[in-house]
Amino acid sequence: MSKPEVNIVWLKRDLRTQDHVPIQQAENSGLPYLLLFLYEPSLIEYPDTSDRHLQFCYHSVNQMNETLAKTNQTVTQCYGEAVDVFAHFISIYSVQNVFSYSESGIKLTWKRDKAVKRLLDRKEITWHEFQRDNVLRGIKNRDNWDKMWYHNMNQMALTNTYSPKEKMEVNHPFSFPKEVKKTLENYPRSFQPAGEKNGWKYLESFVKDRGKNYNRHISKPTESRLSCGRISPYLSWGNLSVKQASQFVVSHPNSHKNKRAFDGMLTRLKWHCHFIQKFEVECEYETDCVNPGYETLEHDNNSDFLEAWKQGKTGYPLVDACMQAVIETGWINFRMRAMLVSFLCFNLDNDWRKGVYHLAQQFLDYEPGIHYPQFQMQAGTTGINTVRMYNPIKQSQDNDPEGIFIKKWVPELTDFPTKFIHEPWKATKIDLIDCGVTLGEDYPLPIVDLKETAKVARDKIWGHRKTPEVRENKRRIVHLHTRKR
Ligand SMILES: Cc1cc2nc3c(=O)[nH]c(=O)nc-3n(C[C@H](O)[C@H](O)[C@H](O)COP(=O)(O)OP(=O)(O)OC[C@H]3O[C@@H](n4cnc5c(N)ncnc54)[C@H](O)[C@@H]3O)c2cc1C
Repeated sequence: MSKPEVNIVWLKRDLRTQDHVPIQQAENSGLPYLLLFLYEPSLIEYPDTSDRHLQFCYHSVNQMNETLAKTNQTVTQCYGEAVDVFAHFISIYSVQNVFSYSESGIKLTWKRDKAVKRLLDRKEITWHEFQRDNVLRGIKNRDNWDKMWYHNMNQMALTNTYSPKEKMEVNHPFSFPKEVKKTLENYPRSFQPAGEKNGWKYLESFVKDRGKNYNRHISKPTESRLSCGRISPYLSWGNLSVKQASQFVVSHPNSHKNKRAFDGMLTRLKWHCHFIQKFEVECEYETDCVNPGYETLEHDNNSDFLEAWKQGKTGYPLVDACMQAVIETGWINFRMRAMLVSFLCFNLDNDWRKGVYHLAQQFLDYEPGIHYPQFQMQAGTTGINTVRMYNPIKQSQDNDPEGIFIKKWVPELTDFPTKFIHEPWKATKIDLIDCGVTLGEDYPLPIVDLKETAKVARDKIWGHRKTPEVRENKRRIVHLHTRKR
């Protein structure tokens, strides 16, 4: 008996049912098609991945399945390596085409994609990859990139249509191990809820009301939780496309009233693609310095300091509060992310690679294309950006003056006198009588001296910037990633 002809849509970071080019192509082909999402053990075990990412994907897929139920279409979820899963479906179906977005991922996913491509080529199956959010494959510089980005974002977002189909019985041996299934289902409520519908809810509430104070509150750890878009996990896992988000913001009736605020957010949507484009061109930024001249920069790499940073026990209240908040909720604002990296790399003198996976795991919105270039920018290893060293005491005084954020996320300091909340070590015994906190026991004393470590780091990083290796590479990087003026 001949095998039934099908197409496969391979879902990756595009877990939505609308503005989806690969799904539309499969619909247009006229053949039955399989929507496939994979949980690959080799990726799950990789140090950038955490349960929260997998849970977000699982619940996003479940939401797609609810939406698609009336069309008899279902996303099939497989727990297995991509090559094995494709080999299985090729053995039971006559697979004609594979449709997907191209993935600007880490080296491991790039290697996996090449293995899948070899298999598909051997079986004479065409893999059609579509560009995601104007991130272009194979470009050598940024000539015309901006123009193309605006052109692309101004094209109508696609309205996917689904014709009713006969239900397909999809058999495979890649079901979830019991413990994996249990983990996937137990998604903590402290994280933003997953899925396309929730992405739209966040976006709608931003334009309706939350976004009016976007610029004013963007650096404040408490207020930004309300006034920022908070759509990052939905963009990172593709519950929303950048085009959908930007068109929705631009065309909303409130866009006149809140023009400055919305423009601030729209600019960042472009940055989103700009950063991923850098990573698409050189995914080595996951493991190597953007500017190879910084490979010879030496670090202390004190592992006790690193551990204290990871656990939010450094004795600097804002640093510790940010780490606790991100561990618990998966999100903090940009300024606080930058401060955490600056504190790790400059004050604690740890190489950026020591902390990069820890934050990748914590961020619910982990997007390799943004995460690694941003982390390195804050660590000062690009050689093309100004080095910004954030003083956590000043950040705390400016952006959390009453210590509201600190008191929420560092419960040991809830009753601490507000006067000393930014620098607890300045409080005298008499100041501490009422709050019952013994510094060094209930809450740590600072693990490093801020001023001293900042001075050493400043001299070191700026000194290194003048080396011929950094300067030489700077020219190459500017040519590759920036627009001609
Ligand atoms: C060390 C470090 C690591 C980061 N890692 C990630 C990551 O893994 N995933 C991620 O989405 N963002 C990352 N960011 C960027 C930024 O902090 C988040 O995108 C932002 O905080 C998300 O909140 P929001 O959706 O409310 O953003 P908004 O301010 O509402 O902006 C809207 C969207 O624009 C994009 N965006 C915003 N700021 C930036 C930026 N500085 N660079 C690139 N895109 C931006 C995001 O997609 C965001 O959802 C990182 C920043 C730093 C300093």
